[in-house]
Amino acid sequence: SHRIMLGPLVAAIDQGTSSTRFLVFNSKTAELLSHHQVEIKQSFPKEGWVEEDPKEILQSVYECIERTCEKLTQLNIDISNIKAIGVTNQRETTLVWDKETGEPLYNAIVWLDLRTQSTVERLINKTPGRNKNHLKHKTGLPISTYFSAVKLRWLMDNVDKVHEAVVSHRAMFGTVDSWLIWCLTGGKSGGVHCTDVTNASRTMLFNIHTMDWDPELCKYFGIPMEILPRVRSSSEIYGLMKSGALSGIPISGCLGDQSAALVGQMCFKDGQAKNTYGTGCFLLRNTGAKPVMSDHGLLTTVAYKLGRDKPACYALEGSVAIAGAVVRWLQDNLGIIGSSEELEKLAASVGTSYGCYFVPAFSGLYAPYWEPSARGIICGLTQFTNKSHLAFAALEAVCFQTREILDAMNQDSGIPLTQLQVDGGMTSNRLLMQLQADILCIPVVKPSMPETTALGAAMAAGAAEGVSVWSLNPEDLSEVTSEKFEPQINPEESEFRYARWKKAVEKSMNWET
Ligand code: ADP
Repeated sequence: SHRIMLGPLVAAIDQGTSSTRFLVFNSKTAELLSHHQVEIKQSFPKEGWVEEDPKEILQSVYECIERTCEKLTQLNIDISNIKAIGVTNQRETTLVWDKETGEPLYNAIVWLDLRTQSTVERLINKTPGRNKNHLKHKTGLPISTYFSAVKLRWLMDNVDKVHEAVVSHRAMFGTVDSWLIWCLTGGKSGGVHCTDVTNASRTMLFNIHTMDWDPELCKYFGIPMEILPRVRSSSEIYGLMKSGALSGIPISGCLGDQSAALVGQMCFKDGQAKNTYGTGCFLLRNTGAKPVMSDHGLLTTVAYKLGRDKPACYALEGSVAIAGAVVRWLQDNLGIIGSSEELEKLAASVGTSYGCYFVPAFSGLYAPYWEPSARGIICGLTQFTNKSHLAFAALEAVCFQTREILDAMNQDSGIPLTQLQVDGGMTSNRLLMQLQADILCIPVVKPSMPETTALGAAMAAGAAEGVSVWSLNPEDLSEVTSEKFEPQINPEESEFRYARWKKAVEKSMNWET
């Protein structure tokens, strides 16, 4: 049979909160050639706890790689054309494993997890003026349940096996990127223990100015520095795949998922922004070579550093904990939809929430409030309200939350965005996209190739020194085709609904008092 000649290919492992994917791109055209996706189980062992199984995560990566390679072979595409692999991952999710046995010592504590709420409140109460931004000058982050340091502290204090491994110098800490790269490059027999600057910047142990682990922060949280991975740039060869169909191929790109989406959307210039709708929702705006501190509840984070000798780029970020997760909740907990695709039809059947507002503060509220004690509420119910209105209110909630972070972003930067570039699993919902344009009163632009997170990681991998099959010059890539949603309701109507939403948010933060 004929082999198709395509030139060098670059792959990406995209390990998200709800699923794992492996995708292969043509480095000349950025065309997606094949991919495979596997869902990941989440467990909720106690109220507010969210865990995933590190071995299942690793297994899903191997499965996606093997299946994608089979699909490529069926397409007559020679897998030996794959020249590099990038890794992109759910951020902050925290793992500890034993470097001698290779065994995880506990489940992965997922970023959404609230078990550290009391620890966080205690830490904030101890700061001068009860200031949650006490460490922000170094980290860019408020003290919150969201970031890895408090999760790691919890593991050391509450899991005997973790404590013992730390004491006997056998423990390794990592976010999902570190766990995967260590395992894929050989694990207990010579695996590389590293992370990239974007993932490191979400731990609260990393100084975003010096671009390294910060001894003072480690001391503050009581974390021994020897368990931390080595911090590398987002684009360099970390190691080679040790087994499977792609054995010997370099892993040469690593970016937290939101950074990868920024790169995949080609937001390389100061002021460019994107919003990704997955389990949560994350709006990032590139601020160039300087970290900008927010006065409106946004995070300052490392956007990317595309090569060892390249400068770091920073971003302002508005993080929303619950977006697609509310869809999953309507499906799994209430059973009012059978699949996420059904939500659109249900909501569209009424086209209004009929005055019902749904604040899904399941994990407290993130940006711009950072209020771990907030809880979800549904208000404005009447005898008339039915599940379709509730479905509509859930979609609107995602849009209102984005409006809040966009407003904060515009205030911080002084230059309002004139349109919003979007991506992520939820953007296949066209009603959501239209609602978003209506509520923001600016156009929403969605690329026709939706896998921008994976594309960003693949680009970083292909551009690495020693690989160099991909130029990061956006002009070199073929024209990105996209779809645009224009606002269709009048701004007064939009403002009225937004004001109601704000009232509902107030109630979600004060419902106990
Ligand atoms: P993650 O990277 O966080 O795993 P994805 O970008 O893969 O997330 O998006 C998956 C999320 O999007 C899930 O929470 C799912 O419920 C939601 N989702 C997928 N399709 C739709 C849809 N058509 N309408 C609404 N939500 C959807």
